[in-house]
Amino acid sequence: MIDLRSDTCSRPTPEMRTAMAEAEVGDDVYGDDPSVKALEVRTAELLGKEDAVYMPTGTMTNQVAVRTHTEPGDVVLLDQAAHVYLLENGASSAFSGVLPRLLPGVRGIFSARDVETFLAPMHHFFPPTISGPVRLICLENTHNIGGGSIWPLEAIRDVAELGTAHGAVLHLDGARLWHATAATGIAEADYAASFDTVSVCFSKGLGAPVGSCLVGSKEVIARARRFKQQFGGGFRQAGIIAAGALHALEHHHPRLHETHDNARRFAEGLAALPQIEIDPGTVETNIVRFQLTGIDAGDFVEEAYRRGVHMLPSGRDGVRVVFYLDIQVPQVDEALSIIEKSLKALV
Ligand SMILES: *Cc1c(COP(=O)(O)O)cnc(C)c1O
Repeated sequence: MIDLRSDTCSRPTPEMRTAMAEAEVGDDVYGDDPSVKALEVRTAELLGKEDAVYMPTGTMTNQVAVRTHTEPGDVVLLDQAAHVYLLENGASSAFSGVLPRLLPGVRGIFSARDVETFLAPMHHFFPPTISGPVRLICLENTHNIGGGSIWPLEAIRDVAELGTAHGAVLHLDGARLWHATAATGIAEADYAASFDTVSVCFSKGLGAPVGSCLVGSKEVIARARRFKQQFGGGFRQAGIIAAGALHALEHHHPRLHETHDNARRFAEGLAALPQIEIDPGTVETNIVRFQLTGIDAGDFVEEAYRRGVHMLPSGRDGVRVVFYLDIQVPQVDEALSIIEKSLKALV
């Protein structure tokens, strides 16, 4: 089975498993796990921040960030298709009691102008939660539902400058920030410089089995550690998994461009097939989203699955495919051939 549902379907390599088996460990809740500490130091350094805290998931690092920056009733601005808003089971409303207000992003990317609309001076008729002040602005780079789209650095800086001038703090959901860097050559730290906190995932394209880090200033991360514990995320000999993440940073991080080349190859192959709508020019990183014409996405995905390719339907006629290091050129070409046969079988 060629599993293209998500880059979270990556498996640890034998070398990664060895690194994990041999990891030095301690009790992380007491701050005693040397592998967790090493991962936090390395991640903070890569992102150009003072400190980092390792957690089980990217959902948790995002939600701990929201809780760290806000109090119940605060306004949070997000893109209408943000992972933090749409794909985390309503967590920021449940755990932080914040009021999300949505921006009309295009492929997940909005502008300072969009943000400005929400920064109107507070009117005394309105409770502060209706017209402001905006406490937190969240961006996502690369953008998942946007199809792996990359935020231009200038657009990030414009939003950050405006937000900061109005007293808002900024969080970046950088689950796939590594991919923005691999595609543009702009260092993670340069992207991160505009944000108070950044969340990054090791369990996606990087291919580690578990975990994410939240990075920021010493002060902000100290507060985040309190909420990590409060949300039930204090884990013990986590060095076993942190060692996998460290291995991924060292050995897989430099190879992510391979996943972009394969995504592009796949998109170009798809563009030549009937009943598929895709603009390969929109494929910037490792995610490919395409539309079907005259075929139900559920039927298509089922037919392809029977033949050996696993994809994710997205709505009635959309499909999502994600590349990672386990999938190489021969699998890309085989997947295209299976898709071609599946389309023929369905007409
Ligand atoms: C996957 C993902 C997350 C959450 O990561 P989990 O580890 O699955 O909780 C957050 N943000 C984005 C953009 C993602 O794609």
